[in-house]
Amino acid sequence: MSRSSPSTSLEDWLDYSTEVSNVFRCTVCGADGCHEEMVDEIFHLAGQYVLVDNMPAAVCNRCGDRTLSADTVERARVMVHGQTEPVKSIPLIVYELPQDGEKAITWPPTA
Ligand SMILES: [Zn+2]
Repeated sequence: MSRSSPSTSLEDWLDYSTEVSNVFRCTVCGADGCHEEMVDEIFHLAGQYVLVDNMPAAVCNRCGDRTLSADTVERARVMVHGQTEPVKSIPLIVYELPQDGEKAITWPPTA
């Protein structure tokens, strides 16, 4: 007894993903140019902050917004939740902006 194969093979899907990622459009400023850069990013996972370094990201040429591929995020997630030993552990300094009820929703800022 054989199961029917899915309409889209993994290979087709990967081709499709690559094609989509080549058509970059910044979700922040709408620019269509980007370059690849190795970046770090802080994830909030399993109740703690985890810094993952050396991840390839598409960086917008205009505003510098960084986009990580779903594959990269998934690989980082698996690594953090898995048995991989962290490279190192560093203290994290946390600040919080004091919230003013009225000013917090004023946008754009007035000079
Ligand atoms: Zn941008």
